[in-house]
Amino acid sequence: MVGLVVVSHSRALARAAVALAAEMAQGQPVPIEIAAGLDETTTGTDAVAITTAVQAADQGDGVVVLMDLGSAVLSAELALEMLEDDARERVVLCAAPLVEGLVAAVVTAAGGPGRKEVAEEAMGALAGKLAHLGGQEARQPEGTGTESDADFVVTIPHGLHARPAARLVTRARGFDARVEIRNGTTGSGWVPASSLSRVATLGLLEGHRAELRASGLQARAAVDGILALAARGFDEEATPAVPEPPARTPVGGGVPASPGIAVGPVRHATSVEPELPDEPFRGPEQEWSRIAEAIATVGRELQRVRAATAREAGEGHAAIFDAHLLMLEDADLLDDVRTRIDSGTPAPRAWADATERVAADFGALQDPYQQGRAADVRDVGAQVLRALLGVGGAVMREAGVLVAPDLSPAEAAVLDPGRVTGVLLAYGSPTSHGAILARTRGIPAVVGLGPAVLEVPGGTTVAFDGGTGEVVLSPGESVLVRFRDRAAELASRRDRAAARASSPAATRDGEQIAVGANVGSVADALAAAGSGADLAGLVRTEFLFLDRDAAPEPDEQEAVYRQIAESLGGRRITLRTLDVGGDKPLRYLPSAAEANPFLGIRGIRHSLDHPQLLADQLLAFVRVAYDVPVSVMVPMVSTVAEVVTVRRMLDEAVARAGRGTPAGLRVGIMTEVPAAALKTAVLTPYVDFFSIGTNDLTQYALAAERGNAALAALADGLDPGVLRLIDAVCRGAGGRATVAVCGELASDEAAVPLLAGLGVRQLSVVPRMVPLVKEAVRATDLDAAARIAAQALGAPDAAAVRALSPR
Ligand code: PEP
Ligand code: MG
Repeated sequence: MVGLVVVSHSRALARAAVALAAEMAQGQPVPIEIAAGLDETTTGTDAVAITTAVQAADQGDGVVVLMDLGSAVLSAELALEMLEDDARERVVLCAAPLVEGLVAAVVTAAGGPGRKEVAEEAMGALAGKLAHLGGQEARQPEGTGTESDADFVVTIPHGLHARPAARLVTRARGFDARVEIRNGTTGSGWVPASSLSRVATLGLLEGHRAELRASGLQARAAVDGILALAARGFDEEATPAVPEPPARTPVGGGVPASPGIAVGPVRHATSVEPELPDEPFRGPEQEWSRIAEAIATVGRELQRVRAATAREAGEGHAAIFDAHLLMLEDADLLDDVRTRIDSGTPAPRAWADATERVAADFGALQDPYQQGRAADVRDVGAQVLRALLGVGGAVMREAGVLVAPDLSPAEAAVLDPGRVTGVLLAYGSPTSHGAILARTRGIPAVVGLGPAVLEVPGGTTVAFDGGTGEVVLSPGESVLVRFRDRAAELASRRDRAAARASSPAATRDGEQIAVGANVGSVADALAAAGSGADLAGLVRTEFLFLDRDAAPEPDEQEAVYRQIAESLGGRRITLRTLDVGGDKPLRYLPSAAEANPFLGIRGIRHSLDHPQLLADQLLAFVRVAYDVPVSVMVPMVSTVAEVVTVRRMLDEAVARAGRGTPAGLRVGIMTEVPAAALKTAVLTPYVDFFSIGTNDLTQYALAAERGNAALAALADGLDPGVLRLIDAVCRGAGGRATVAVCGELASDEAAVPLLAGLGVRQLSVVPRMVPLVKEAVRATDLDAAARIAAQALGAPDAAAVRALSPR
């Protein structure tokens, strides 16, 4: 049976249309998939999601795709390019009106004919309505028809620059009409109003007369819509002005994310032009699919930043990203890229040359403000180029304090502590992977400062304390002295701790608590050994899988895990199976768009969906385990069945390795899901240890997403609700399995006595915190800690818990 895919800007709209059509269909249930909206509430379309929907709907007889307006059509075309040749041949993009067409398609498909017939029936779906309203045309207001024209005078300062031009283009695309525009004052040529790059280069300045002409079914409505928008000043007045940062005052209440003092000049992240490799041409279809995938990746990232900006700074600030998003689907730009590819140019070169052509068009304009838009085009162009080439983005050219909207894990991973003396982020939270990586590299950081920090001019001196979140711009001498004193005090505490970091840490009453390190690379492992870590309590193996085009083979994995083990001098290493999904997508295993990725296919769920990937990883773990003590750790476990499956697959890996079970092999799970914490007793027979991932456990327990700056204060691992879950794990394990904590909470010196008091006997922390955490263990008296922990469980909030801590 032919499958159907509904592509719409709105998920609610698509669902309602499908429900309506399903009511009408009487025959066999038809496979219908939707690819609509970027999430439950954000409107937009996504080519990757459409590809996934087409694959799901295709049962072998092909698929008819119905779309709503504008970019839905473009995204569907991009999606088509991303399919394998044989799958693509089975897809028909159908121009029928969405609701009528869908009803006709469902009814027809249920009867079993081929996709061509289904599409034809859908196309004919308007016939009934047209016949019924046959006399309507005479009653329509004057001017309705297939052609229309008008003009308006631009009244906004700076003219039709990126943001208002983006609004005009969006408006023009919303109608079933071909709309063209030109600058009547300069006598420019006509350009399609649906192309941002063409509209913005018309040089329509304040006082200029813009002329419109339109043809098609909704020509008049399109022109009226644009005139109304122009009359409203392109909604520009609603845009709040960006506040000037007052000199010599704090930027505002930031959230501490990585301890340490930093003083230095502000440096904004700039995007470097990635170097174009000398690569062979892989054929037009493959090269075009690369472009489509890179555009989809950048589109998702821009949507993410747009949503964060809208949430934290308002729609007015967020609207600038609309211009960037429109650029990604600009027909003029994409046509140019396509032509270059068709004439044998590889994707990166075709993209770079086409964007440079558009940027040069902007650069050639008279108005300096318009000329400045060339930088926007180059910026978006470079983002796509980086996605095409798989290289990171935010780069600082000169030493100083990096200021950026947010840092992706890939960007944070390449921060150079020799150059980046500190990090200030407008968004983000302390438990986002970007912040964790900054902490791992010992780079002080404050996050969640809001968009005003992005407006601080480069070169301005800034002083901040990553332990308290205090940020001071252009500090005076007294402030500098205060910060230097704090830095000196911290340094001497670190020196004292470092002097005995390599000895094991025991509480005052002699209970040994192992302090390990969390490791995300071979360099981290070396840092961990240098910091005196007793073990690697968490090896985030995903660093080996991200930012590349294919998963590493077992041999490569084995070699890297061995390097980590060697760097740690043969100490135990806890190898976590791949923890991707959520904020760590894998480029080469694209997954369906999820409304809530953190509640979706991540951690062990992802691995069990890709069993060969997991089997290969377990084989590499086992091979290493013959030579060094290895613990295998499974992330994001929520059920006993998941653990049973992984244990079975581990047995198979042992059989594959062919040398029997390695002596030091242990198996454990991460407790990150509240349900797993509460089921500890039933999970205990299957594991040797539990390692509590407080980063995720906290976000799930408090329903506060870990990357959301607005919730950073709420998502505190010392919340009594989280502590009760940790208590449940310790009591559920009942001494039959070790309980560790490897989330960021373990690196918080104030948390150490509380965790020990609850029964935690192993901590795993960022490498550079090992010495200080060992000192915190040595200062702990277990009896007193147990009393405080019991009080903490009954405390009203995290602040009250912190007040109880002796540290
Ligand atoms: C955690 O969730 O606490 C954890 C250690 O895992 P990650 O931060 O890698 O998700
Ligand atoms: Mg986690």
